[in-house]
Amino acid sequence: MDQQKLRLLESYCIQEEAPACIAACPMHMDVRLLLRQLRDHDMDGAFKTYRKSIPFPSILSRICEEPCQKKCRLSEIGEGISIRALESFLFSRSNSSALPTMLPQKNKKVAFLGSGLDALAAAYDLRRKGYITKIYEPASSAGGFLKNVSETILPSQIIDDTCSLLIKMGIELNLSQHTTGSSALQIIDSGKFKIQDDEFICVYISGNLEINRIDQITRMTETSGIFGGTAAPESWIEQAADGRRAAISMDRYIQNVSMTASRSDEGSYETRLFTSLTSVPPSHTFIRNSQTIPDEDTAIQEAARCIQCTCMECAKGCEFIRHYEAYPRVYLRQVYNNVSICTGLRQKNNMINSCSVCGQCESVCPNKLNFHDVIRETRQTMVETKKMPPSAFDFALRDMIFSNSDAFMVAKSPEGHKVCSFVFFPGCQLSASNPAAVEKVYALLLEKFSDSTGLLLRCCGIIADWAGEKEKFQQARNELLQEVESLGNPELIVGCPGCMQTFRNFYPALKIRSLWTILDQMDIHSKQHETIQTFAIHDPCGARYQPEVQDAVRSLAKKIGIQLEELPLNRDQTSCCTYGGNAWNANRSLSDAAVDALAAENPHDYLTYCAMCRDFFLKRGKNAYHILDLFFDPERIISGKAMPRPDYSMRHENRSRLKKHLLKKYWSEEMNASAPYEKIKLFISEEVRSVLEERMILVEDLQQVLYQTLETGNRMVNAQTGHYLTHATPGHVTYWIEYLPKNDGYQIFTAYSHRMFIEEAN
Ligand code: SF4
Ligand code: SF4
Ligand code: SF4
Repeated sequence: MDQQKLRLLESYCIQEEAPACIAACPMHMDVRLLLRQLRDHDMDGAFKTYRKSIPFPSILSRICEEPCQKKCRLSEIGEGISIRALESFLFSRSNSSALPTMLPQKNKKVAFLGSGLDALAAAYDLRRKGYITKIYEPASSAGGFLKNVSETILPSQIIDDTCSLLIKMGIELNLSQHTTGSSALQIIDSGKFKIQDDEFICVYISGNLEINRIDQITRMTETSGIFGGTAAPESWIEQAADGRRAAISMDRYIQNVSMTASRSDEGSYETRLFTSLTSVPPSHTFIRNSQTIPDEDTAIQEAARCIQCTCMECAKGCEFIRHYEAYPRVYLRQVYNNVSICTGLRQKNNMINSCSVCGQCESVCPNKLNFHDVIRETRQTMVETKKMPPSAFDFALRDMIFSNSDAFMVAKSPEGHKVCSFVFFPGCQLSASNPAAVEKVYALLLEKFSDSTGLLLRCCGIIADWAGEKEKFQQARNELLQEVESLGNPELIVGCPGCMQTFRNFYPALKIRSLWTILDQMDIHSKQHETIQTFAIHDPCGARYQPEVQDAVRSLAKKIGIQLEELPLNRDQTSCCTYGGNAWNANRSLSDAAVDALAAENPHDYLTYCAMCRDFFLKRGKNAYHILDLFFDPERIISGKAMPRPDYSMRHENRSRLKKHLLKKYWSEEMNASAPYEKIKLFISEEVRSVLEERMILVEDLQQVLYQTLETGNRMVNAQTGHYLTHATPGHVTYWIEYLPKNDGYQIFTAYSHRMFIEEAN
């Protein structure tokens, strides 16, 4: 990903855009923060927030026209927050005579002709920046049109107090001066301006200039160095904002830097921030009279109505996004830095490897930000540049290698046929999880398609793609295509939604059909089961873009007597169980949290159609079924009997046994001889077995280590327990086993693994 692409993708994520209220406020007061502070009883913090953006709280908390309230998103479903009344409340309990912080004085002078609200605001801002600031006002009191506001709304005493504060700040306020109007200005040779006997670098003329004489971005007139407000401004808060805009320009003018750069977000604008109001109930203001100051309880109640507008649609269903406590715009930058800049520790490796690459974020994002492709490409770059930690996806990749080895792989036409019209492709994990169901489906397909259905057992290769291993994926893909070709290019009947998705994305020439639509059309269970049980249906992320599969499974469930409830995010927006992207392999605590959150969405047992989703739910204690569990054993619908969950070792054994059994049953063939280490018999208690599962150590890993130990005789004895200790490194990982011989095999007491290389002395 280059800088240009990074910026483009960052622009899709609008999470950092201002909420509607802040965008509508010409001074961009942080309304959201202020309301949060007020809600949380942090009155001083809330007033500081107000004070930070608003120059004259005593005046503007009384006369601001509240464009923020009109644009507040709550006004779309009820009433917007009464923000100005809350500002009045905060001002009423503050120390109004406190001086703002100011920079040290500079030896540079600016003048103001007139003292309308715009001029006062500009003078206030420039004085805070350290300029010597002088106001010349023809009237005997300051404030311009402010003095026309009704005394009940803005007592003149408040204007006088504000002027006193400006004087305390060091602003020179000259009243009854007959120097107003541009005719009173003298431009002297140096490009400076002379008023009376003083020279100024620039001058601001308050609110009496025609609009076409002023640049709307900089507020500079056609005469360089003279700035101004507009005649008859439409709102007080706009006037104050005009003064602020001019102050920024005057400061830049004096410093001789661009007056137009980065000014697009000044003044009111329409925000791009998306905030869903779907689950927000309508609410109405607690403040009925906006001219009265609410009491503290009412103010807090009103502030608590704010929904703290934000996007974060992608975080609603994704534990990964929640876990790292930010959002894709931040993650994009972190990913970019991790791969492109960082030369030392790449601290975001684990973050990059923890995404499920499932595409949910793109589906729910209002701007369709495709974050999963960024993660996918980044992992590929990490592998190519040797920045991918070897341990990241090792276990998952080894599982794929197992599936595509002689231990499981089968590509066969029905007996007596060289080629076939259809071939059943159950996928590696359905075979690992429920081999009996695979066998039953195959028998059913042979029946339906008059013996013209072959069998293809292997992994589709997506594990390698998720791991960023392009070459390994290509190799798996090529092998699979060759096998399909050797069977006469039959149509694949696919029993795993993830494999379906992989074939659609990466094998465009393959003819594929979903098992679920075929089973649905068979009408096997219609009218058989009248007892209705309710399950919540979880769509696997692999089925995200397959509405026909989603429909077929729902139809099948109905036919076998199941009533379904939908999860909050379903179908194309469904959440991943973290098998996707090998995320479970890279970050197990995050994986557990994701499954727990998903499991808590509905109290009913879950029904799904991906073997891994089922097994991940079972692992976290949520009763879940694969549709085939119930299709072939409908009694479970009524009994609610949980399915057994095979552990990692059993998943290997199930696949090998399935191959062995089907070869014998349909082709009268024996499997090739197994590896010699597989003959080693192990005695492993349930307790030790769950330790092995937690540590991702397979029974066959232990068998290989013991086989090597028997060959070399190298082992140690624990003098206290009398147990033997041995180790070996059959692949990238070193395994240690504590064991004792038992009967015709070995009792395992514990095992662990690491990736350190042990150099042994003779
Ligand atoms: S859904 Fe997520 S990625 Fe999309 S704009 Fe919102 S926060 Fe950003
Ligand atoms: S709900 Fe709160 S954050 Fe959202 S627009 Fe209204 S005041 Fe602003
Ligand atoms: S896990 Fe899925 S939804 Fe979450 S960031 Fe990754 S691709 Fe997006």
